Amino acid sequence: MGGKRCRSRCRHWKGDEAIAPANKALRQRLGGIPIEGPHEHERPLLDNLEKQGEAYGIEARVVTPDRWLAEGDTVNVAGHTFEVLHCPGHSPGSVVMFNRDQRFALTGDVLFQGSIGRTDLPGGSMTAMTASLRDRILPLADDTIVLPGHGPATTIGRERATNPYLLEAMRPAPTRGL
Ligand SMILES: [Zn+2]
Ligand SMILES: [Zn+2]
Repeated sequence: MGGKRCRSRCRHWKGDEAIAPANKALRQRLGGIPIEGPHEHERPLLDNLEKQGEAYGIEARVVTPDRWLAEGDTVNVAGHTFEVLHCPGHSPGSVVMFNRDQRFALTGDVLFQGSIGRTDLPGGSMTAMTASLRDRILPLADDTIVLPGHGPATTIGRERATNPYLLEAMRPAPTRGL
């Protein structure tokens, strides 16, 4: 299987590979473009940025986004509109950016080909991940192209049919007793 789990070196502050927060110097260099995202549930990760950077030998500076993202928001990038799907599980503020017009989704560390983002890091939750897969990913149409944060591209249809985590999320909740 080509799908790789997000390794421990994964830096959540990438905004889950979708809309990356940047530091002030970068903002200035880019001509003052607004910093949109991540989801506000990533605030603790952002606040910890400098310390986490040190651990990896990366000089990082904290920045406050101009706009925190939330479920149902839309983000416009160069004329393309992305819908924000809040998909906690890998991290509390993980988001999938869905381009409905062009039928593709940037799934970051939520969904990979044949796998999902790991849920054992601080802030991760397998229960939340399963709910995200069930409520946010499975409703997407089969022809939606999936561009994950790690590994090769795939489609929702392929993952719906073969991804063990999606298959698990489709199972009805177990009923207790009778
Ligand atoms: Zn990652
Ligand atoms: Zn990650």
